[in-house]
Amino acid sequence: MRSIFDLTLEKLEEELVNNGFKKFNATQVFEGIYKQKHTSFLDITNISKELKKYLTENYSLEYLKVEEKLTSDTADKYLLNLNDSFVEVVLMKQSYGNSLCISSQVGCNMNCAFCESGRLKKQRDLTTGEMINEVLTIEQYENIRIDNVVIMGIGEPFDNFNNIKDFLNIITCNKGIDLGSRRVTVSTCGLVPKIKEFADLNTQVNLAISLHAADDETRNKLMPINKAYPISEVLKAIDYYTKKTNRRVTIEYILLDKINDSKEDAIKLANLLKGKLVYVNLIPYNSNSTDFKRSSKERIEAFFDTLTKNGINTQKRREMGKNIKGACGQLRAAKEKQGE
Ligand code: SAH
Repeated sequence: MRSIFDLTLEKLEEELVNNGFKKFNATQVFEGIYKQKHTSFLDITNISKELKKYLTENYSLEYLKVEEKLTSDTADKYLLNLNDSFVEVVLMKQSYGNSLCISSQVGCNMNCAFCESGRLKKQRDLTTGEMINEVLTIEQYENIRIDNVVIMGIGEPFDNFNNIKDFLNIITCNKGIDLGSRRVTVSTCGLVPKIKEFADLNTQVNLAISLHAADDETRNKLMPINKAYPISEVLKAIDYYTKKTNRRVTIEYILLDKINDSKEDAIKLANLLKGKLVYVNLIPYNSNSTDFKRSSKERIEAFFDTLTKNGINTQKRREMGKNIKGACGQLRAAKEKQGE
């Protein structure tokens, strides 16, 4: 049965009208499931018996099962059961609120050399409803409100663009969950045509781009997608996006020991980004089953200093969830190995 969480308000309106109900019933249903958090259609008070029956017979309203929870002092990680597979989310309780990092696919086809998710080929895209359900399930399980959502878990969100588009529509819809667009961030490895399409949506949703290298030779080795969309193309897409939206783009850069963390790398990166509406987020590498090592504190500091001295806005990402396999794909990879 189809999940009710798959449908944007507009799609639900259409479905209901096509089945003899009124357009405004869709708003009542949205408020019932997302604001009052009813877990049965029968509990929605202001709708007709016929509508309750129709919804119950045609849509599921079930949350996901939490299969496993790992806790650390900075972040909690959950493995959620999708019936045919598992997916991970990470909850970070920060001074500015609760941030949830959600997954967009089961596995990933991008095959980045340093990333655990790419080791398990993509099995399928997550549906819109499953992604909405990642948020609802954690809110219910922990009895909290999620204040920020980052789509930086397993998967490449722009390789699942249509479902992501509906997800963003639903999560920010003021008749439902009503999360501010600026509280949502999508992270991509750099699928250039989709970055442009995303810019054309004209939302206030934040965009982050995983760059991780300042020249094509290095980036080709780390991220195979660079062969299709090299750095120059990614930079052009960033310009298109900032011109269209006037919004700052986050550049993610994992520091890998002796691979992309020299002073020359920092200068190259500064030259690429000079004058652009961006800021750089330096990410300490979470070691996993690959051979890459995290850069030393000294090299991270030096890289940071070179960028800032060259006028680039830069932040060091506070490390979270190191001991709970916090980085992309690690918990799911461990679970799949258990099952082997
Ligand atoms: N596919 C998207 C989103 C998922 S990955 C993207 O590439 O942006 C989210 C971020 O985590 C990316 O910047 C990714 O490069 C990074 N990441 C993956 N493995 C990591 C690790 N072991 N340590 C630190 N960051 C990692």
